[in-house]
Amino acid sequence: MDVVYAIFFLILGLLLGSFYNVVGLRVPIKQSIVYPNSHCPHCHNELGPLELVPVLSYLFLGGKCKSCNAPISILYPFIELLTGLLFMYAYLYFGFSNELVVSFLLISLLSIIIVTDLTYMLIPNKILFYFLIFFLIYRIFSPLDPWWNPYAAGAGAALFLLFIAIISKGGMGGGDIKLFFVIGIALGFPNVLLTFFMASIIGALVGIMGILLGRIKKRQAIPFGPFIALGALLSLFYGEQIMQWYFHILW
Ligand SMILES: [Zn+2]
Repeated sequence: MDVVYAIFFLILGLLLGSFYNVVGLRVPIKQSIVYPNSHCPHCHNELGPLELVPVLSYLFLGGKCKSCNAPISILYPFIELLTGLLFMYAYLYFGFSNELVVSFLLISLLSIIIVTDLTYMLIPNKILFYFLIFFLIYRIFSPLDPWWNPYAAGAGAALFLLFIAIISKGGMGGGDIKLFFVIGIALGFPNVLLTFFMASIIGALVGIMGILLGRIKKRQAIPFGPFIALGALLSLFYGEQIMQWYFHILW
C-alpha cells in the first residue's frame, strides 16, 4: 500500500504545486486566487484543461504558449515537481505521523514563498499569517518538549535576525525575519537555528559561484527566501543527522 499512497501524495503535491504557483504569482499583486482562470501572461489567452496538467503540459507544449509561442517560465513546472516530489518524500520518510502534517504545511509555505521571492523579491505577510495560524494550531495538538520550545524558537530567531538586519544595515529583509518566526513555530529549536546556518552557507556559496561565473553582479541583491526554504527542508528531514555529524567532528 505504501506505493499507492506514495503515488497519491506525488499527484496531490503536483496539483497543489500548480495552485501554489497561482497563489505565489497573484497574492503579492493583490489579485484573486480563484478568478480569473489561468491565462498566458503574454497574450492573455485562457488556458484550457490540457494546458493545466502539472509538468506534463509544460513538456508537451515545449515550454511555449500554445497561442502565441511566448516562452513559459520554467519556474511553474519546477514548483509543481518540487511540491510533488517533496510530498511523496515526506510520506516515505515520516509515514502517517505528526511530522507528515508539519512537512506538508512547511513544503506548501516554502513552495509559495520561493515563487513570490523569485518573482517579486518579497514574502507576503498574508501568506505568512495564514501558515502561522496553521502552525500555531498544529503545535497545540503536537507540542514539542518543552511545550514553549516553538514559541521561544520563533521569537528568538526573529530577534536574532532583526539584530543581523540592523548591524548589516538591510542585509536581511523584513519578510525573511517574519518567515523565520513562522519556521521557529513549525520546527522549534535547534532546527530553526540550523535552518539559518544552512541557508546562510548555501546562499553564500551560490552567491560566490554566481559572481565567479559572471551570473550575478557584486552587490546585486539576491532573494534569500529560496535558501531559507532549502535550509528549512534540510533541517526538517535531516536536522538530527546534520547536528550529530557536526558535533561529532567538533569533539
Ligand atoms: Zn500566449
